[in-house]
Amino acid sequence: MMSKTGFTTKALNVPYPKEDPHNALQMPLYEAVAFEFDSAEQIEANFKGEYIAHVYSRSSSPTVEYFEQKLKALTECHGVIAVSSGMAAISNSILAITRSGDNIIAGNRLFGHTLSLFQQTLSEFGLETRFSDLRDANEIETLIDSNTRAIYFETVTNPQLEVSDIELLASVARKHKLLLITDSTITPPNVFRAADFGVNIEVISTTKYISGGATSFGGAIVDHGNFDWTNQPNVKSYTEKFGKNAFLAKIRKNIYRNTGGSMAPQTARYQIQGLDILEIRVERCYKNCMVLSEFLSAHPKVKRVDYPGLPQDKGYKLAQKYFGGVPGTIMSFDLESKEACYSFMNKLKIIRRATNLNDNKSLIIHPDSTIYAEFSEAERAKVNIRNTMMRLSVGIENAGDLIADIEQALD
Ligand SMILES: *Cc1c(COP(=O)(O)O)cnc(C)c1O
Repeated sequence: MMSKTGFTTKALNVPYPKEDPHNALQMPLYEAVAFEFDSAEQIEANFKGEYIAHVYSRSSSPTVEYFEQKLKALTECHGVIAVSSGMAAISNSILAITRSGDNIIAGNRLFGHTLSLFQQTLSEFGLETRFSDLRDANEIETLIDSNTRAIYFETVTNPQLEVSDIELLASVARKHKLLLITDSTITPPNVFRAADFGVNIEVISTTKYISGGATSFGGAIVDHGNFDWTNQPNVKSYTEKFGKNAFLAKIRKNIYRNTGGSMAPQTARYQIQGLDILEIRVERCYKNCMVLSEFLSAHPKVKRVDYPGLPQDKGYKLAQKYFGGVPGTIMSFDLESKEACYSFMNKLKIIRRATNLNDNKSLIIHPDSTIYAEFSEAERAKVNIRNTMMRLSVGIENAGDLIADIEQALD
């Protein structure tokens, strides 16, 4: 019954974990650090795992719990843990499944700080990352050995806007009993049903779409309940006590509790409302994206447009298959030179010059001179970053105003 309900209707009707004494129509913000017990016996029972209640908000708290339950209902997954940022979701997930001497296989066009996490932070603790463009199953298989713990990829790469072949990755992962983790930030849960294509774990920067429009920082770890954790050497011991919850239990009772990356209740409050309006915001941004990408494609000064929603885009077919044709609402396009890009950006009056994604406002950036500034020219070329390219995150403004802004700035 519930699964047939539309996304927004469902978002608005997820029950609270506990009935509200005042029948409040908004989940209250519980800004409490600690929660009280009725007796010494009850607190003992809680610590033994026999009486479940919130104890201390670094581990769990009511408003954050409601956000987790809402995202769980909307993704129809096994369980969700909300954390302080997208990077916390990624680092907690990788720390839970690896130890020194292990390796993971990852796409070579990753979000910059994810790449830095793998190459700099985690490599110092003995975790190796083996990079691949993840296009060729045979090549991926040559990278796998007995210490490989996961294949990690992004649904659509940013700013190149290349669509991953998720079913190909799922078939390799299944064959080798490896965990398949995706960063699905670009393709929110109303357009992407990760489990349908064999993904086991989603990590999401909820800072982006789910926050409701750049209101707050957050992250989510989504477990689809479709991986046998007895095949995971670093999670296996948790299956004895926690069964199917082994991975989430390891994160909640070890990694995330001990590293302290909890979501703040104030953030959860914003993000609960962000989920209520997610679908309508995505629909509006997508409409704008189509209008803008078609306009840019036809403009003589625009040399190239990458948006897998366009039928002529090389990722169009995969985008239809995996995201119902809505491959997020970010695009990139090229002018003839870096100078032309700067001149264009400086003339914009409505579109803002900023790094974020999926704000309600349209945002533009020149990735080569900013996000990729730390990379050598050769490294940038390898991941297809051109100095003629700009990334546009399309917002909910009126399409005609965005077109007019772009038109005057291209003049
Ligand atoms: C922003 C982003 C992240 C990091 O999320 P934060 O919330 O900024 O920590 C990770 N992956 C992708 C694809 C992102 O866009």
